Amino acid sequence: MSYCELGTCPYDKTHRIMIFRMPKHIVKCAKNYRGPPLQTCKYNAAHRVLDMEEHLKECDYYLRSIDDQAVQIALSTRIPPVQENGHDVDTPL
Ligand SMILES: [Zn+2]
Ligand SMILES: [Zn+2]
Repeated sequence: MSYCELGTCPYDKTHRIMIFRMPKHIVKCAKNYRGPPLQTCKYNAAHRVLDMEEHLKECDYYLRSIDDQAVQIALSTRIPPVQENGHDVDTPL
């Protein structure tokens, strides 16, 4: 028994597709799609939604990227800022 996660096709809610097949399926389904245009999620191209703002509230890829950014910021604040304007900064007067 293999565990396969199923997702719902954004273009047709009756399509239940294995997650790893979703990108290919979406390309195929988008060609036959006749409804209102869907936006592609920046965080996962397999996410196609009508309302991106609503989607981002529950998009785990987006939420994960926020977490990552928070970690990055937390890490970078521990490193002292680097002087980038050359060696003249500490020239005594
Ligand atoms: Zn589909
Ligand atoms: Zn998304």
